[in-house]
Amino acid sequence: MPVFKELRSPLKKNNVNEKLLLSVVVPVYNERQALPVLYQRVQAVLQSIPIKNELILVDDGSKDGSDDWIADLALRVPNVRAVRLSRNFGKEAALTAGIDHANGDAVIILDADLQDPPELIPQMLQAWHEGADVVAMKRRSRAGESFTKKTSAHFFYRLLNRISDTDIPEDTGDFRLMSRKAVNALAALPERNRYMKGLFAWIGLPTTVIEYDRAPRAAGQSQWNYLNLFHLAFEGITSFSIAPLRLATLAGVTTALLGILFAGWIVIKTLVLGEPTPGYPSLIALITFLGGVQLISIGLLGEYMGKTYFEAKQRPVYLVRDVLQTKSVRLTQTRTQGHQRDAA
Ligand code: UDP
Ligand code: MG
Repeated sequence: MPVFKELRSPLKKNNVNEKLLLSVVVPVYNERQALPVLYQRVQAVLQSIPIKNELILVDDGSKDGSDDWIADLALRVPNVRAVRLSRNFGKEAALTAGIDHANGDAVIILDADLQDPPELIPQMLQAWHEGADVVAMKRRSRAGESFTKKTSAHFFYRLLNRISDTDIPEDTGDFRLMSRKAVNALAALPERNRYMKGLFAWIGLPTTVIEYDRAPRAAGQSQWNYLNLFHLAFEGITSFSIAPLRLATLAGVTTALLGILFAGWIVIKTLVLGEPTPGYPSLIALITFLGGVQLISIGLLGEYMGKTYFEAKQRPVYLVRDVLQTKSVRLTQTRTQGHQRDAA
């Protein structure tokens, strides 16, 4: 991507670069309380930067009125577009929808709960302008998150990176800027199972990392509970590594070898010491253990098979209920929507 001279001083006003468009994508699920502050802060930043911009709010099937608030805003404010999904598809799908509906030369992803400060956008643009295709925001600190969440996240990333071929950076979340090239690369990945962090890492491209302090939630509660997080972690591991399958094989080989050794030992013992019949407890223990190993292995196989099954169905990642924006924008936008995926 060519470097744009006009961007040298990103904060200079009244010198809008008409050729460049920045899209800010925000996935929203039950964030009614945070939305007004979010909008205010993002808009203030967008007005201070010298390139054209659009704010894409993706409603992920909210049930607290966020969907109506977003729709109302999009119909009033020209640079806001509302993409409302037909139900709750999860953050990964909402992000995919937002990215698919973004027309920008650069796309920034931001959480609706203001944990990712929009005030960092100029800094991200600067890094993009200096040639980065991806500007990944790394959390220096995570205020307002529990010790358990922090440590489990830490160990999860260590484990994931050890067993997968793609290096997924710790402490960088979805908060990032992507150039059009990176966005197109992401959109071209055909898989339905969209573990975003893994996909981001997979595409690679020149990346600048900027550290920031993650704020606590502005309002409401995190939509994640530990079960969800476990699910996401499992998703991450099984989407980006087949190490668990190998582990199952390894466990199988090990137990089989132990079984052979044990059989040999029994033969020798019978020859030397005769044939008493003790050993029911150890037999039961062995059977239970092996049964457990077998069930785990089958479960793992099922997990990967299930993934293949869902990919094979070729269902879209999300379904759009409607896309709303002011009329004037809609007219100019129809020309530039060539990259939308089948689901839209
Ligand atoms: N989110 C979403 N769909 C969901 C869950 C969450 O679009 O099913 C959005 C949510 O509105 C927020 C972002 O994803 O903008 C991050 O969610 P959350 O704050 O719950 O996650 P955390 O910050 O705890 O990782
Ligand atoms: Mg959050």
